[in-house]
Amino acid sequence: MSSTRQLTIVQLYSRDMNIYGDHGNVLVLKRRAEWHGYSVKVIEYNPGDSFPESVDIIIGGGGQDSGQDKIQADLLKIGPKLHELAEKGTPILVICGLYQLFGKYFKTQDGHIIEGINLLDIRTTAGPERLIGNIVVESDQFGEIIGYENHSGQTFLGAKVKPLGNVIRGAGNNGGDDWEGARYKNIIGSYLHGSLLPKNPHIADWLIEQAAINKFGNFEPQVIDDRFANLAREHAAKRPR
Ligand code: GLN
Repeated sequence: MSSTRQLTIVQLYSRDMNIYGDHGNVLVLKRRAEWHGYSVKVIEYNPGDSFPESVDIIIGGGGQDSGQDKIQADLLKIGPKLHELAEKGTPILVICGLYQLFGKYFKTQDGHIIEGINLLDIRTTAGPERLIGNIVVESDQFGEIIGYENHSGQTFLGAKVKPLGNVIRGAGNNGGDDWEGARYKNIIGSYLHGSLLPKNPHIADWLIEQAAINKFGNFEPQVIDDRFANLAREHAAKRPR
């Protein structure tokens, strides 16, 4: 579909921070934005690249501790740019490894600290066991959110963020306080891989809506046939942890 209304999606660190299906988030965003009538440009950003001039949505995925080490210096370098975009209301979705590094730090199992960009008021320390399995979350804004988690990090929220939702089944941020994810401005941070957006297309539409309102002043959603997404949600919600 060709449209003069273009949205640019930037995928942060597509080489090193992109596991457990996180790339599916970009595919779903692109396709749904096209169905809603926009043309879409996807830019994969990796260490050393020049940061794109025009950015409408930012997506980042998870990664191994070693991947987080690899991209950290570059992330700190573009941190001020990400702060500026976030404060302006740019919609941002960061999963697991990048969720952690959008916070203050991630202290790994071997005790070293990977400093983050402190855009989300969260702190993460690796716990003794990995938190792995299917997860269901209830969120005021998005209803039931379904995904899959696999992390050693236990994340604790500070006063400047709100949780994305409450854990119904699974571990979430730390397995203790029943919270999952973090919200600040138009940022969603979450541990949910799976990937998240194919099973939760209403979150993809919310990201597109924010981007469209920021850029064009309005958003007129099209009706999308979500039968397959709904079946995937039902199936995933029934799977054992
Ligand atoms: N390495 C981090 C952890 O284990 C992030 C994992 C991930 O992104 N899935 O907590």
